[in-house]
Amino acid sequence: MTRQSAPYYRLLGDLSDVPAEYIRDVSHMKRFLERWTMDPKYQEAFASDPEAALTDLGIDLTPAEVIPLMDREAAMEATRLVRAGRAAEVPPAVLRYRYFIHEKVEHRRRQRAVTVPGDPRLRAWRERMINRCIGELGQDRADQIVHAPAAIELSKGCTVGCWFCGVAAPKFDSTLKYTEDNGRLWRECLGVLAEVYGIAARSAFLYWATDPLDNPDYEHFLADFYDVFGTCPQTTTAQGQKDIERTRRILQLAHSLNSPVDRFSIIALNSLYRIHEGFTPEELLRVECVPQNKESATAGLVRKSNAGRARKFAAKRGNELVSEEQSSTIACVSGFLFNMVERSVKLITPCNASERWPLGYWVIAQGTFDTADELRTLMRSMIDESVRDSLGVLDTVRLRRDVKIVASPERLRVVSMGLGLAFDDQPQAPELAELLAAGTYTVEQVALRRRESAGVPPAQTLAVLDRLFLGGFFDEEPPAPQSAGTQSAGTQSAGTQSAGTQSAGTQSAGSGQESTGQENAAPEAARLLQLTGTSRSAR
Ligand code: SF4
Repeated sequence: MTRQSAPYYRLLGDLSDVPAEYIRDVSHMKRFLERWTMDPKYQEAFASDPEAALTDLGIDLTPAEVIPLMDREAAMEATRLVRAGRAAEVPPAVLRYRYFIHEKVEHRRRQRAVTVPGDPRLRAWRERMINRCIGELGQDRADQIVHAPAAIELSKGCTVGCWFCGVAAPKFDSTLKYTEDNGRLWRECLGVLAEVYGIAARSAFLYWATDPLDNPDYEHFLADFYDVFGTCPQTTTAQGQKDIERTRRILQLAHSLNSPVDRFSIIALNSLYRIHEGFTPEELLRVECVPQNKESATAGLVRKSNAGRARKFAAKRGNELVSEEQSSTIACVSGFLFNMVERSVKLITPCNASERWPLGYWVIAQGTFDTADELRTLMRSMIDESVRDSLGVLDTVRLRRDVKIVASPERLRVVSMGLGLAFDDQPQAPELAELLAAGTYTVEQVALRRRESAGVPPAQTLAVLDRLFLGGFFDEEPPAPQSAGTQSAGTQSAGTQSAGTQSAGTQSAGSGQESTGQENAAPEAARLLQLTGTSRSAR
């Protein structure tokens, strides 16, 4: 809660006690920001006659109420007033919308915090992958990744075919029908997921390189998921406008199952128009409309990730993408990726998209199954073979390629884009830096060398290595896909493939962490639409 004095209501849960005018304020503000962010013509119309532009859009707010959310100076002034205890001078609609954003950001943080795998090895691995992502992607980008437990594809391929698809969805091939047999297998597989991952798997969702609405039986799969886990998976679709009545039924179903947030990817302005015509602002209160249309990108308001298929368009449409220097991925799962048509599963975790990992995630292990029993065996073997939970003395320690090491006589620092660690009182620290930089020594060898040359007790060296390990600074990148640059969603091989990881661990990185987070420079209105993702990032 901020220092605002007016009463605030939470909007992601039961709305029965929330006054209608409160919901109206927030949902109308949201609609205004959607149109203003994605439609340059609307910006022009607003600039020439703000009141008429609001009326034409059916927005029950005044220009004075919306300006503090679209204009940086006005936004800063509103913040200054709130901090000075003068919130009463800020329009309530502004404060309510800000509180709504605050609630959604908190929701995302909570999602990440409560996703705790039951298996201690998976738990340790996920923690470490979270730390690695902060270091590799930067704090700002990493904050948007929830490290969800699982994503489940109900089709093979996607009919939408976005040029920028961050996971390079293949062309639509087929979808899983909800037959009696498939329904049984589906529920059994969800049971296995709950058993192997733990109840925190309830934060999974039912799409990846697929659009959930491509599956005509999506609603049945969604309802079954709720029956097993007691939660409703977030729906993200680029086809919200295609069949408004079906979309409305799905939203109503999701609402009845207490889904806090759903999402529409707006890939063309016409889609936004149809959505705004088809649904009232109140109906879409909890549906984020993610700007993916050309106009919002070319205006510099929202840029797309340079991952997946978008990488092929870097030269042609580079002005719509984040720059090569910035980290890029839309992956948000540190866990299992299923395809129920192919009956395949992969163990994955996000990474910066690159030639080697164009889809922006590592594949640690993968395999196929026919039955729920086989799935259980497969998932367990993936954990047994690829997910380790401690740094062994015979493990070779090698820093990630993006980690820099800085040593002065008694101090060693490791630094990456988003995370750093400093170790004081390290005699002959440059020697330790050299051993780490070599990347060829085992834990045992490093500890013995430190004892011999600098008189450092092995336990002290092990503690340093352990902290580096827990912070995700050691290189655990799996072997490259068979053909570099050809990592593609949906291709599987039978059996499991060990990831060849260097090491593993059990705790968070500890008190030596230094944040080197990036500044978010997106304009206020665009930022307020982007702050809120709860699972997979905007595609
Ligand atoms: S971004 Fe989404 S809707 Fe577009 S092609 Fe990829 S999976 Fe399909």
